[in-house]
Amino acid sequence: MSIAQNLLKIKSSLPENVTLVAVSKTKPIPDLMEAYDAGQRIFGENKIQEMAEKWEAMPKDIEWHMIGHVQTNKVKFMAPFVSLIHGVDSLKLLEEINKQAQKNNRIIDCLLQIHIAEEETKFGLDEDELNEILTSSTFQEMKNIRIVGLMGMATFTNNQEQIRKEFTHLKTIFDKLRNGGSGRDALQCVSTKCVSTLSMGMSGDYQLAIECESTMVRIGSRIFGGR
Ligand SMILES: *Cc1c(COP(=O)(O)O)cnc(C)c1O
Repeated sequence: MSIAQNLLKIKSSLPENVTLVAVSKTKPIPDLMEAYDAGQRIFGENKIQEMAEKWEAMPKDIEWHMIGHVQTNKVKFMAPFVSLIHGVDSLKLLEEINKQAQKNNRIIDCLLQIHIAEEETKFGLDEDELNEILTSSTFQEMKNIRIVGLMGMATFTNNQEQIRKEFTHLKTIFDKLRNGGSGRDALQCVSTKCVSTLSMGMSGDYQLAIECESTMVRIGSRIFGGR
């Protein structure tokens, strides 16, 4: 099947409230344009340099999502245009995003990444670290970032029950953040709308993620083929 066919098939299978991020990392611009021409407007990349090059070359109605681990010293290269940064996992990084957003006269939307997998290697915060960030005065003084939700990656395994457990764990933390607790207060939410995004699910596990109430799936190889 073609990229356009893959895309449309996945799109038609998603519930209405689930947003599809087409993960186009490593793929050439013509491949992205095929998805664009089929109607896709949200693309996910994991390298800032590559994302910036694609942003420059492609139509300007695309929303670019940074889904990879972000190095502080590279934030400035995406601050003018990035729509959502998924993998934020430290106060230091938030400070830099806030600073660069301010320079560009923008408010940048971010997701905080929670560590839910068994693997040690995957980035992310635990629940205590999350609350520590949200209740810190440094965070509360930042005016140019908006935390719109959480992101997580499950363990790379065939064990469906384990993946389900990890996604459910993330959903629980997400609900706590939306519905109360110190974190919610710190976000100065006037409604649950401001914390609305739960980014979980990739090519191999997005159906399970949706069962666990994901609102945003990041799908690469099922659209563009293997990398
Ligand atoms: C690469 C990547 C994806 C997409 O992976 P696929 O298995 O190709 O769908 C999703 N999320 C993150 C964080 C990634 O790095």
